[in-house]
Amino acid sequence: MRTKLTLGVAAFAVLALTACGGPAGTTSTEAPEETGGASGTGDGATSEHPYGLEVAEAPEFEAGTTMAELSEAGAITIGTKFDQPLFGLVGPDGAPEGFDVAVGSLVAAELGIPFEGIEWTETVSANRETFIENGTVDLVAATYTINDARKEKIDFAGPYYEAGQALMVLSGNPEGLTGPDDVAGLSVCSVEGSTPAARIVDEYGAVLQATDTYSNCLDPLRNGQVVAVTTDNVILAGFVDQNAGEFELVNDGETFTEEPYGLGITKGDDAFRDWINDVLEEAVADGTMDSLWEQTAGTVLPTPEFPAPDRY
Ligand code: GLU
Repeated sequence: MRTKLTLGVAAFAVLALTACGGPAGTTSTEAPEETGGASGTGDGATSEHPYGLEVAEAPEFEAGTTMAELSEAGAITIGTKFDQPLFGLVGPDGAPEGFDVAVGSLVAAELGIPFEGIEWTETVSANRETFIENGTVDLVAATYTINDARKEKIDFAGPYYEAGQALMVLSGNPEGLTGPDDVAGLSVCSVEGSTPAARIVDEYGAVLQATDTYSNCLDPLRNGQVVAVTTDNVILAGFVDQNAGEFELVNDGETFTEEPYGLGITKGDDAFRDWINDVLEEAVADGTMDSLWEQTAGTVLPTPEFPAPDRY
């Protein structure tokens, strides 16, 4: 059984976004007591879904699979970013919102788990593999680049989006940076455990000011401790949008790497990976992915061509 977007609800969600700057605040980060099991979703949960997703009713899965376990529990723990506008940012009601949150919610909805059944756990760049390996989370949706080093520890469904590394500077670009070749020997802020932090040092010779979350790079940029912040273009675009007039992207956000975003899961759980890839593929085909994008990152960024999953 497939989740289809309920168009009337989607329209409502878009209106709610316009009015409040984020999904309607009807959720908490914890599953409420009265939320039922996997099949106890009904129309009420559907109509209240912040992304207008229809929660699958009593979906059936092979016994013993991760899908069956999560669906039966009616609960899933998803790791995401809490400080990244457009992708994963905790809103005033305590629940995160953004495109990664929407994609994680899509997976949950297909398992028959309503938004209220999702426990959101903050994952920063450096702890994502560990949180998957030690079972702290069932899934990570957190601007998470698929690469071979990470695949030694965990597996990825997707990609569901293609980002690329860019540079953000103070408005007016006081150092006159034109691209990554200009940062050799200069202080640049990025986040431990991320692909952009490694690359700006290894390939471009920057002096890394490392921190734990990208929002912690903003003050060092403001006060001149660093000349730039580097990470994925779409993360930086969120900070530019959130801090009107303060920052800009070098070269209009020109990218110099490929950062395909995947959903991180336990290594070796091929059935779960295949199933998530099916969910993603169908969501692209039926327009659900476009809608999730337009309700979140699409308020600032153009709607992309979503990539096909890489079924490695
Ligand atoms: N996509 C890159 C990565 O996974 C940078 C963004 C992030 O740190 O979340 O390392």
